[in-house]
Amino acid sequence: MREFDFELALCAHLEREGRIVSRQLGGAVHGRRVLDTVVVEPGPEFDERAAITPRPLPTAAIESSVGPGRARYWKDAFDCHPDRAERAVELAVERGFFERERRGGRTYVRQTARYPDWFDGILAIENKPDLGRPGDLESQLRTDVSLALADRVVLATASYVTGAHLNRIPEEVGVWRFDPDSGKIDIRRAATQLPTDDAAIELLEERPVQTDVRVVSAAEKGRARRQLAERAYGKGWRSFDYPACDRCLPDDDGIPYCEWKDRAVRESDECSPDCGGYEAADPPAIDGESLRAERTPWRADPDGRQRRQSGLDRFG
Ligand code: SF4
Repeated sequence: MREFDFELALCAHLEREGRIVSRQLGGAVHGRRVLDTVVVEPGPEFDERAAITPRPLPTAAIESSVGPGRARYWKDAFDCHPDRAERAVELAVERGFFERERRGGRTYVRQTARYPDWFDGILAIENKPDLGRPGDLESQLRTDVSLALADRVVLATASYVTGAHLNRIPEEVGVWRFDPDSGKIDIRRAATQLPTDDAAIELLEERPVQTDVRVVSAAEKGRARRQLAERAYGKGWRSFDYPACDRCLPDDDGIPYCEWKDRAVRESDECSPDCGGYEAADPPAIDGESLRAERTPWRADPDGRQRRQSGLDRFG
């Protein structure tokens, strides 16, 4: 089974359990690691977060000293490059996290709501349906465990898992055998909680005689975790396009199944008039946001979103 089909089937399964799922997100602080699947566990103030916006909130806005009380001159509230601050203000206003007002030719901003304590944990899943073709699997999992950006790291596979497989990967990594047809997950080994609050060593590159690493402070990690959770919340897992082809028949989860190839297809790589099975048509109309909103506590269109408009007034 191809990794793309496996990954989408696992995402759909987890979403049907009501979980906040995303895929293909940066999981590094200084490096370039991309996590296959990310599950965010809701925290005590999840509903407050969901009420603000379905989109991710910019890290710079969250970290700024803009609060919900007195409006502040935007330039005094950010400790970063003014261009980044300006972009963060724009996005935060557009997404209903900030509101702004003009006073004496200057832009002042305040939070519409205090940034909530909305997530309780992050699960990072590495998908490797065929353990016979592991690629960089061991190195990737060592990187994830050492950095401990996610609370738990899991390897998901469709393969039969042997003791030798278990011995080769870090003992903190959980192992799931997932059957996409039945939707059954057999937990072969439970994942260990990782020390997410501590400073860590990030493996940047492993070579035969040398490994490049960087120390990551607890503060850097906390920031990266929040950014990861925000991106997961905003992105979801249906971040693919549907082919403009009559042979694409999405299933009930919105997975872009192709009847000609008898599997899910990645439109950007596989679908064009050059494909032997191509039959021109409008792309299937799938409302992935509605599916996500029906199945999970994520909200597609909270009231807060409509209350405000992105102001077009100029910064001063
Ligand atoms: S273009 Fe080819 S691969 Fe893509 S949906 Fe159509 S038949 Fe399937």
